[in-house]
Amino acid sequence: MNNPFVIQDLNCRKDIGANCLLIQVGPFRLVVDSGMDPKHLGNDSLPNFSLLGDQPIDFIILTHSHLDHIGTLPILSKKAPKAPILVSIPTSLLAPLMLNNSYSVMCRQKKEKEIPEYPLFTKADVLALEKRFFTLNFGQSYTLAKEGHSAKITMYPAGHVLGAVSVLIEYEGRQLFITGDILFSDQNSLRGAQIPQLDHLDVLMLETTRGSTERTALRRNEEKRLLSIIRKTIERGGACLIPAFALGRIQELLVLMYNAKRSHQLPNCPIFCSGLGMSLINTFDEMGKKLRSVNFSRHILKQLNIKQLRRSKIDPHTTRLKRPAIYLLSSGMLAEHTPAYNIAACLLGDSDNSICFVGHCDPTTPGGQLLQNRNAETFTFEESHFTAPIKASIEHFDLSGHADRNDLYQFAVLQHPKAVVLTHGDPDARQWFADQFAKNASGLKVLDPEVGVPY
Ligand SMILES: [Zn+2]
Ligand SMILES: [Zn+2]
Repeated sequence: MNNPFVIQDLNCRKDIGANCLLIQVGPFRLVVDSGMDPKHLGNDSLPNFSLLGDQPIDFIILTHSHLDHIGTLPILSKKAPKAPILVSIPTSLLAPLMLNNSYSVMCRQKKEKEIPEYPLFTKADVLALEKRFFTLNFGQSYTLAKEGHSAKITMYPAGHVLGAVSVLIEYEGRQLFITGDILFSDQNSLRGAQIPQLDHLDVLMLETTRGSTERTALRRNEEKRLLSIIRKTIERGGACLIPAFALGRIQELLVLMYNAKRSHQLPNCPIFCSGLGMSLINTFDEMGKKLRSVNFSRHILKQLNIKQLRRSKIDPHTTRLKRPAIYLLSSGMLAEHTPAYNIAACLLGDSDNSICFVGHCDPTTPGGQLLQNRNAETFTFEESHFTAPIKASIEHFDLSGHADRNDLYQFAVLQHPKAVVLTHGDPDARQWFADQFAKNASGLKVLDPEVGVPY
């Protein structure tokens, strides 16, 4: 029998971009994820929806709630008005919060950056989506039926972030497995991916985010190193800024610091938080009560002496930061207009302070720029019209929510797929996987799909 799966990558560029896949499975047309490209603005940040054509979409499946996977869902959902949206229970709660926050950001950027098409959707659009969510438990299957054919969809926990799933699609004895963003090792707040050994996998769609990054240290060692920098900064009376992604990273770091405090590895000092990361806390708390794989309770906020940062008053020209203190704030890449950006400007010029990056920083973002130029004399925060001498210590820790490339490669080989399709990675990251498979797994068909071309 011919391969019943036809895959088309709707991301406009061959990079991490806006994750969106059109998958034809026999008579069924499915779309997996509907991301917004964080490196682009306005209509340039959308997947190429014109490739969806006129045929109806039967189902939309979401792997998790990061905006590069769901940021354009309100737009896709209007193009596929009858398609139910298949999600995990945590994603059904987190996605509306993430999309409403994205709406607010677009409203602000409309004026600041003069983008007439913003906002790309409204809060009413987000509300309408919630009625279309069809939730599945981890490991639970859903069977689609049409024209005498059926396809089975099963979601498995993918570790990456609360609610993240990998997706198995089975059709007439054939199997397609989509990793989504995946992390195999346990985090402090979330158990790692739980993927069964598949018996006859035809196609494996592999995320390749970290293909160009060699892991240099174990997660546990990186956590110890981070706690040591925080401790030293506080002990010398300084301020420690940890810029972190709102969904997943902030909550993970709260649990890490809570565990450290209980074992007397974290000195007493206030921890300032704000923004979207705190708005998501209630959902993490709720899921912590319901899911054994989630280790989070809002009680730790009190134990950690968490304080809300009043962001309106922060101006690097005039603000004197409260010290010693920890500032755990989004965004992870120091995007302009975020609390982390403003606090970084306030504390960069004092050698008692430190800035600890805990995830990937794109080189085009202020965080990426600061990391690249950390040995320079000064750094300019363009949006604040503020230049500071670089005196604070600037550190980078490998605490990513993505599996490293060796773990992903091992996973792929052990599942014995007939073909691997590379997705969700920059060109050099995909190339590492392509080279690795060519060297060590000859006979395995490896596809690095061109954008928009069906395979
Ligand atoms: Zn993600
Ligand atoms: Zn992603």
